[in-house]
Formats: sequence, C-alpha cells, structure tokens
Amino acid sequence: MKKPHRIEDPRAIDDVRLRDGVCLYGLLSQDGCSVGKDVHHITHRGAGGEDTPDNMIQLCRKHHSMAHNGLISVTDLRRVLTHFFGFEYRGSDCQFPEKK
Ligand SMILES: [Zn+2]
Ligand SMILES: [Zn+2]
Repeated sequence: MKKPHRIEDPRAIDDVRLRDGVCLYGLLSQDGCSVGKDVHHITHRGAGGEDTPDNMIQLCRKHHSMAHNGLISVTDLRRVLTHFFGFEYRGSDCQFPEKK
C-alpha cells in the first residue's frame, strides 16, 4: 500500500528537537544510544499521524530503527512521552482516555 505523501511541518519538527534535546527513549530506558537525532512520528503519517508534539519524539538512530522494526512499540513510545511530559494521546489507535 502506498503511503500518502505529505509535507512535514519544519517548525513542528524544530519544536520537538528543542523540547527533547536527546533521545528520549534512551534517556528513560538507559540501554544505550547510538549517534543521530531523528524526529520520529509515533503514529506514522501514512496511518493518519499528525505533526503534533504528542505524536513526535526525538530518537537516536538505534532507537529510531528499533521503533520502525517493531522492537519498540507505539505504546512504549507513548509511555516515554507520558513519563516526561504527561501528554494525553488522541491518536487513531489511542488507548488513553481523552481528558478535557
Ligand atoms: Zn536512543
Ligand atoms: Zn521514524
């Protein structure tokens, strides 16, 4: 299946880089990071993920590829953001209740 191509919002990506600074997954898991600082979409853009801070996380190259290979789950990544920022998630496969 072909993913729809969308223009990424560079400002949103910059915001996430400033917010996170490091690989947030590695900061919590303490299992060692590689080089690289990539902003990853937790819910893939092709699956309806948006350029919002609660859907993006900065990862090193190692943890980024683990996220894409399914070794780090979407739920794991959301837990990391919840741990550091307390975000509520409203993505398409959201398991957290919406809070108003
Ligand atoms: Zn890492
Ligand atoms: Zn990614």
